[in-house]
Amino acid sequence: MARIVVLGGGFGGLAAAEALSPAARAGHEVVVVERRETFFLGLRKLWVLAGTADLASGSRPLQGVSRHGARWLADEVIAIDPVTRRVRTHTTNLHYDYLVVALGAQPRPELVPGAEAAMNLYDAQEVDRRAREVQGLQGGRVAVGILGLPYKCPPAPYEAVLLLDDLFRQRGVRDRVELVAFTPQPSSLPAAGPAGCAAVEAQLAAKGIRFEPNRKTVRVEPGRVVFESGGLDWDVLLAVPPHRAPQVVVESGLAQDGWIRPDPRTLRTQHDHVFAVGDVVEIPMANGMPLPKAGVFAEAQARVAASWILHDLGLGQPVTFDGYGYCFIEVGGQKAAKVAGHFLEQPAPRVEVSEPTHDAWKEKRAFERQRLDMWL
Ligand SMILES: Cc1cc2nc3c(=O)[nH]c(=O)nc-3n(C[C@H](O)[C@H](O)[C@H](O)COP(=O)(O)OP(=O)(O)OC[C@H]3O[C@@H](n4cnc5c(N)ncnc54)[C@H](O)[C@@H]3O)c2cc1C
Repeated sequence: MARIVVLGGGFGGLAAAEALSPAARAGHEVVVVERRETFFLGLRKLWVLAGTADLASGSRPLQGVSRHGARWLADEVIAIDPVTRRVRTHTTNLHYDYLVVALGAQPRPELVPGAEAAMNLYDAQEVDRRAREVQGLQGGRVAVGILGLPYKCPPAPYEAVLLLDDLFRQRGVRDRVELVAFTPQPSSLPAAGPAGCAAVEAQLAAKGIRFEPNRKTVRVEPGRVVFESGGLDWDVLLAVPPHRAPQVVVESGLAQDGWIRPDPRTLRTQHDHVFAVGDVVEIPMANGMPLPKAGVFAEAQARVAASWILHDLGLGQPVTFDGYGYCFIEVGGQKAAKVAGHFLEQPAPRVEVSEPTHDAWKEKRAFERQRLDMWL
């Protein structure tokens, strides 16, 4: 019987555990190694920021993977050896027959000098702790800034500033709060193409949110962010730090130039029986940009990797990753725009951003519930 080890119990790891349930039913061992006790979707952080939901009501304990016949090992991965096929944690040294690496990408604020002065928008605990301070603001300049690349969920910073606009309007203080969004990129959502960027930037403009592209952050000072050229004063800075692959992945030799680069169709790495999915991988699109880091892709890739493992075990037909993905950008007023497209299309990605609707807003909530119910 084979032992399949899944590293990470986030979007990709949980989707893999669920998809591998036929292997568990056939008597193979499926182990999910995850150091956190609970799972929640990243999108919840923005609802916590806006004060419309808490983390607890969207969190589920990792033990839930047992529904799929998998075992949760609550531990930290400290070494991966793809040559001897072993994974070391603080408590054990696991041999695997198949490995799925789904360890995600880590926000690394320390790569930007002074970034600790800002509130890390991607740190759930920090958002939870400081949301009230932002929500209760009486006036001043609030900046939402992308401090470096790459970062996961490219629309999330814009969604955050749109939700804050909505909140400040409801509180009757919007005329006293100036909202600014800045990015080092030349446009808001380069992966969505010129039309997609125009749609997002039109939403920002319609709400009176200033958008500043090409703002490359050099350092953050208390009350000021310094760019390669110029700077911006702030009263509150909500920052998206640059992301990097976890150190344990870099040290394993699985990564090249910082990220794992598996076959985009099968998610197989250059090492036998080792697959990698989600934010820890970098897959180039036809326009040379990397595929955005998003949960929908982690989930789809995990299903593909699982299908190849099941196929090897004589338990089904393999499928390939086609690069289709979608997400929802909330714009306030209980509306959301849907970004959807074929990101790996040749000769260029084909992505559309729809007009915001209440139905898409409801779809986003259903998206969260479905994943929690399906996985845990
Ligand atoms: C604010 C925000 C909003 C978002 N909104 C959306 C959205 O609407 N739609 C969408 O598709 N995506 C969204 N995302 C992006 C999405 O959350 C990520 O792309 C997705 O989680 C990636 O899945 P993953 O499995 O690759 O990584 P993760 O989900 O990050 O999982 C990696 C797991 O590995 C664990 N881990 C890491 N290192 C170790 C170690 N050494 N030992 C043990 N465990 C370890 C981590 O604890 C983590 O649980 C959003 C993200 C944020 C921050």
